[in-house]
Amino acid sequence: MLGVGVIGTGMIGQDHIRRMSRVVSGARVVALTDTDTAVAGEVAAGVGAAVHATGEDVIADPRVDAVVVCSWGPSHEQYVLASIAAGKPVFCEKPLATTQQACLRIVEAEVAHGSRLVQVGFMRRYDAAYRSLRAVTAGGEIGAALMMHCAHRNPMVPGYYEKESAIVDTAVHEIDMVRWMFGQEIAAARVLVPRRSRNGGDLQDPLLLILETAGGVLVDVEISVNIRYGYDIRGEVVGEHGTATLAEPVPVTVRRAGFVATPVPADWRERFVTAYDTEFQEWIDALADGGRTVGPSAWDGYAAAAVCDAGVAALHTGDRVPVALADQPKLYRGAEVTP
Ligand code: NAP
Repeated sequence: MLGVGVIGTGMIGQDHIRRMSRVVSGARVVALTDTDTAVAGEVAAGVGAAVHATGEDVIADPRVDAVVVCSWGPSHEQYVLASIAAGKPVFCEKPLATTQQACLRIVEAEVAHGSRLVQVGFMRRYDAAYRSLRAVTAGGEIGAALMMHCAHRNPMVPGYYEKESAIVDTAVHEIDMVRWMFGQEIAAARVLVPRRSRNGGDLQDPLLLILETAGGVLVDVEISVNIRYGYDIRGEVVGEHGTATLAEPVPVTVRRAGFVATPVPADWRERFVTAYDTEFQEWIDALADGGRTVGPSAWDGYAAAAVCDAGVAALHTGDRVPVALADQPKLYRGAEVTP
């Protein structure tokens, strides 16, 4: 049984603790911490875990075989670096860190360690529909991929959501998905700005993010975060002689009064609940199978941060902004990639 220590017991931290305690097998949450000690105590009592004062204490606990970081973004670097220094596998919710430089420091620390310890929480790679879309695309059934159309629609966003959040918090999932879907880095980003939705107040919403992969695939991502009707994730790959479309996550279809109706997920938790479960089960299973970490890597976290920076610059300038990446270390090439 893998002993897991959790840093940060807010919304997603609690959800992952529930998942590891009641849904997936092979792990037990043995220690946790949160700046809100009352919440930490309550959550710990529910699963029989120890409460520690700091994330460093969680990492140092000898019962902790692997660490899950779910605190707020600016604290991620510190806990991921401390986990690497302790030689413990670490699952870090996105973002890996809040700047490209911080992500590179993590990459360098892991390379110096000599084997992969870090996995980043890009859960779309574990979604059954995205996996099928990728298998069809890679299998050559529709010929070489030329373009992809995506939409990321949220019913609404909280008041602290800013202009840049559309890229760094919302489209970051498409950014990682596109790199994984086509097995290519993203070479440049542009942002087109249509007429503003009145649902978004002062926020520039929606946006159209255009990504160019190194192999010439052009991807458009509609980011609409006040669409009201539900949480709607779309994707269609256009190949040389066919297209492949992400299946709708539809549990039931109702035909009534001249219409066909299917429900739309209320939010990201509902849409991706199974993907999160698969993400954790595969992380735990890979660690049980010889202590390997094979999911989205520190390099993936770094590359996503670099594309986000280009996207934010494109949003501010209106220009096509090339993505500048460091040389990829050997550790991240070859077999050790997400299945
Ligand atoms: P949240 O509800 O605000 O929870 C974060 C928790 O961490 C809060 O309880 C916070 O306490 C605590 N915390 C902050 N700094 C800490 C530190 N240094 N040590 C210990 N605890 C600390 O946020 P969330 O929505 O769960 O998001 C957490 C992370 O998960 C974010 O990076 C977010 O981007 C990511 N996330 C990913 C997905 C996904 O789809 N993969 C979805 C949701 C969230 P205070 O409130 O006292 O600061």
